[in-house]
Amino acid sequence: MPEHAGEALGQGHSTLAERLSAVQSQIQDACRGAGRDASEVTLIPVTKFHGPELVEGLVDLGVRRFAESRHPEARDKAEALSVRAEDLEWHFVGQVQTKKARQIAQYVDAIHSIDRAGLVDALSSIEREHPLPVFVQVNMTPDPERGGVQPDELDALVEHVLATQALELEGLMCVAPLGGEPRVSFAALRELSVRIQTIAPMATALSMGMSNDFREAIENGATHLRIGAAITGKRPDRT
Ligand SMILES: *Cc1c(COP(=O)(O)O)cnc(C)c1O
Repeated sequence: MPEHAGEALGQGHSTLAERLSAVQSQIQDACRGAGRDASEVTLIPVTKFHGPELVEGLVDLGVRRFAESRHPEARDKAEALSVRAEDLEWHFVGQVQTKKARQIAQYVDAIHSIDRAGLVDALSSIEREHPLPVFVQVNMTPDPERGGVQPDELDALVEHVLATQALELEGLMCVAPLGGEPRVSFAALRELSVRIQTIAPMATALSMGMSNDFREAIENGATHLRIGAAITGKRPDRT
């Protein structure tokens, strides 16, 4: 992220509480502008690369849902916070290595980045009281290096998830490509969502929208916003 991204997001010297409440009111404004009820939209602060202290700060502000993108960082934070609050939800939003999938499933409450059949297979034998909620991530670029399944392979992957009892398909997820027009990606994901609902009527959720594009996501039907820097401030450099 560029040096001045924080300023660009309007978070100069603000506190965590101020940034959280600014984002919450921007979400409400965007919902109002889009004619949507704010209760249709779930905010999931992304705390990757930040220490457990920052998560604690958000817990103190009433946040109960967090997104993380790397194992074992996510596991360590979930463990550290479990002594603090029992009702926290952890959403995994980063790429999942096949050999780490079962470990990740032990501490998360949802995975947003299901992108291939091999990963679904790796998760098929997890043991949980209830099926694990998952989102299928769609790659909105032609670049196979980016996370997500290509749109033309989406239906097959959705059918694979539907056939897997350990998983419950919530809907679709995407990351708008850098430098592109986020509206175009979000509108495209929404169309794909309508398409897959013919085979998966319950899979209506749309996990899309980050710090710089959550308004456009809300306009296009987002139900789950994954917002990091606008709330947490600039991320520490990843190591
Ligand atoms: C980091 C991350 C986010 C949050 O990004 P910000 O720009 O900090 O809001 C959302 N989704 C995924 C998959 C991420 O990796």
